[in-house]
Amino acid sequence: MERVMARDWGLDFDFNALTVRETTDVVVLHHTGSAGDDDFSAAALHRSHQAQGWLGIGYHYSILKDGAIEMGRPRWAVGAHTEGENFHTVGVHLCGNFSIAAPTAAQVESLSLLLANLAADYDLPLDEAHICGHCAFMPTVCPGEALYRAIPLIIGKAVWYGEHGTEE
Ligand SMILES: [Zn+2]
Repeated sequence: MERVMARDWGLDFDFNALTVRETTDVVVLHHTGSAGDDDFSAAALHRSHQAQGWLGIGYHYSILKDGAIEMGRPRWAVGAHTEGENFHTVGVHLCGNFSIAAPTAAQVESLSLLLANLAADYDLPLDEAHICGHCAFMPTVCPGEALYRAIPLIIGKAVWYGEHGTEE
């Protein structure tokens, strides 16, 4: 299967302050939800989360509108994206506000490939019990209606990538 290449933008984390995640059985999808359906770099998200006194970006991956996948919090670490559920989940953020806009085709393809990779790496079934929107865990519009409704399609694409993606 084609491996995802996530862009490292020079993560400046206090890595020693992070906690190792012992279990991984769900991937949680998020959107930015900003008023302007904006595209934010992972570095910008990291700085804004740090400005709030957090360790830094709470998501493990972030996908820009052009489909580029950026690294977030190290994948082995407990994230900070879904309260009460971070100990067993990977958090994936897509830039945009999918209550007022739709994910780009490039974001859908990158997310599908990323999910195929995560499913293979963590031995996760690709279904709606294991690929969830943030709203599955608490009352929130995140990841926005357009992304939420696309989850079955994205899971189907991820299965296809897992079975047919270019072998390397
Ligand atoms: Zn969210």
